[in-house]
Formats: sequence, C-alpha cells, structure tokens
Amino acid sequence: MKLWALRVPGKMAEDIRRLLLQTGQIHPEAQIRRDDEHILIPVTGKLGPDELAVLSGAGENITVIEAEFESKRKKPSLEDILGFTPGFDVIGDIAIIDADDTDATRIAKALMEYRKSINVVLGALSPVEGEFRTRQWVVLTGEHRTHTVHKEHGCRYNVDLACAYFSARLGTERKRVADMVKPGQYVVDLFAGVGPFSILIGKSVPGASVMAVDKNPGAVKLLRENIRLNRLENVTAVEDDARHAAVNMKHSADHVIMNLPQSAREFLDCGILVAKSGCVVHFYDITHEDDFYGTSWELIQEAAARVGGTVECVGKRIVRSYAPYQYNVCIEFRVIGD
Ligand code: SAM
Repeated sequence: MKLWALRVPGKMAEDIRRLLLQTGQIHPEAQIRRDDEHILIPVTGKLGPDELAVLSGAGENITVIEAEFESKRKKPSLEDILGFTPGFDVIGDIAIIDADDTDATRIAKALMEYRKSINVVLGALSPVEGEFRTRQWVVLTGEHRTHTVHKEHGCRYNVDLACAYFSARLGTERKRVADMVKPGQYVVDLFAGVGPFSILIGKSVPGASVMAVDKNPGAVKLLRENIRLNRLENVTAVEDDARHAAVNMKHSADHVIMNLPQSAREFLDCGILVAKSGCVVHFYDITHEDDFYGTSWELIQEAAARVGGTVECVGKRIVRSYAPYQYNVCIEFRVIGD
C-alpha cells in the first residue's frame, strides 16, 4: 500500500519513532522498513514543515515522501476464507474442483483470491470416462478456457482438458519410470495422451528414442505440439489404436508403458508382443485392496503364454488411491523371449 512516510537517518530513527508513537501518527497497519541508510516510517497523514521541525530539531535530515509498505496484517489463507480445507488439483494455471460440491462457487472464488497463479477454475461435471479418458467441464470462474500450459520436471505441456486426459498427480510416477530408461533404449508408450511419460523420457535421456501412440486425435495433436515445444527429435507421435500399432512394432521395445489403468488388461497381449527379450513392461491397473496384484499377475502370465514367452515380476507398487477400497497400481515385469 502507498502511504505518506518519514524518511529518517538510521541513527535518529528510534527517537523519531517514539515521538510519533506518542502523538499517534504512526500508521497502524504498515511495516516500518529500511531504505539504504535511512528508515521509512509510515505515518497516518502528510506532515507539515512545523511538525517536521519539532521532530528533527532543525528539520533538515527528515523528509516526507510517499512510499510502498507491506501490510502487517497476515493474508488470510484459503482455510480462513472458507472455514475448511477444500480438495482441488492444479494443472498449469487451471484449478480443478468437483462441480457437484455444494460449496463449489465459494471454493472457486476463494481459489482465485488465494492462488494468484490460478486464472481459471473448472468444475468436473463427470468422472474420467470413455475411450479417450476425458471429462466434462464447466468454467466456474475466471477465463473461459480449458487449455493451459503445465510445467513438470523441466518439461512443458500444452494440455486441453476438454479433449485429452491429463493428471498432475502422476508426476512422481512418470519421473520414476523415466529414471529407469538408459541411453540407446527404445521405449514404446502405448497410451501416450499428450505425452507426459514420452516427453520426459525423451528430454531426460537424449540417447533413448520413444514411440508415443494414442488413438485420440486431440491428444496426438497436443502431443505433437509438445514434442516441438520441448524441442525433441527422439520422440515420434503416432495416431493409432495400440493393437494395430503393436503389430508393426513386434519384439522391438526395451520398455513398454501401458498407462490405461481402466482397461490395460485388455491390451496385455499387444504390450507383450511389442516387448523384445529383456524388455520391462510398466503395466498400470485398477485393483481392489483385497487383491492388489494377484489377479493382475495371473492375467499377465496368461497373456505371455498366448503371445509366446515368459515373464518375471521386477516390481509392484501402489501409485495412488483411486476410489474407496480401489487403487491405481503398477506392476513391472520383464519379458523373456523364447
Ligand atoms: N499416459 C498419458 C498420461 O499419463 O497422461 C495418458 C493416459 S490416459 C489414462 C489413457 C490414454 O489412452 C488416453 O489418452 C486415450 O486416448 C488412450 N487410448 C485409449 N484407448 C486406446 C487405444 N485402443 N489405443 C491407443 N490409445 C488409446
């Protein structure tokens, strides 16, 4: 806030402050601050020459100026404004909340106020749905758009939530997988979306090459933009059905990423078909807490037997909770060819 202030030499500042305190002239909401060798004391109004003379004796060393001050008042938090802690996600400059929440309008307004980096608040009108795993949205406040640029692990992503899937919650998982890839390896990302696994791998392992496949034309358009945006020459985007694409990439990959948790089980044959001997398949699934990995592992073994080859498990982990009692899990297995 801009206020009238006295600019006082440092050695006089404490005496002047005490005098102003006695006359009630110090501004109660602003923080006294330093300005080079001087101290700036915010005052309640412009002081005249007579008042200045009284304060400084001769009046020469103190000047009256206008200056910016920080408020002493603590900025209210989102919780202070709402009275509870809301759940929300942030992708680029878009905050996402549940449109069905009875407090959706209040939460949206508070998010705009509390987070200066938020320019849009979207309300989700549906769960992630359909073959392309998208959601229906309503703009609750801010600019009317679903497009943003999201930054993650030094990469930038054009995201349009109305036409392609994206979740900021998988950032740690993407980094973990990228760290497993070595220079010279060939990676096939069968359900690439706008490219957050593929682009991160392409950028962090320049010696690797990545084939990024997705069936959704909207996702592939963004994926191609993101390859350019991140200046990558080792990532290729293909708009295709994973099953069809797999036939052209038989036994070629060192890593296969299968991030379509709701129905990746149906694609196990093509994931294993793409793997060359020694390849690690990163398989994502949604499972119940009574059976985290058992059924998934049986299905993986059955698919390997159908395609020809054996599999050994190299890792399994819970990525995040998905719904009550349900979890998004990752099973990693090595394919050993005949
Ligand atoms: N891996 C990306 C990410 O982490 O953001 C996207 C994951 S999203 C859960 C699954 C993606 O699979 C969607 O972009 C969807 O369009 C794509 N998809 C669904 N069925 C497909 C198929 N048969 N072939 C290729 N891609 C498919």
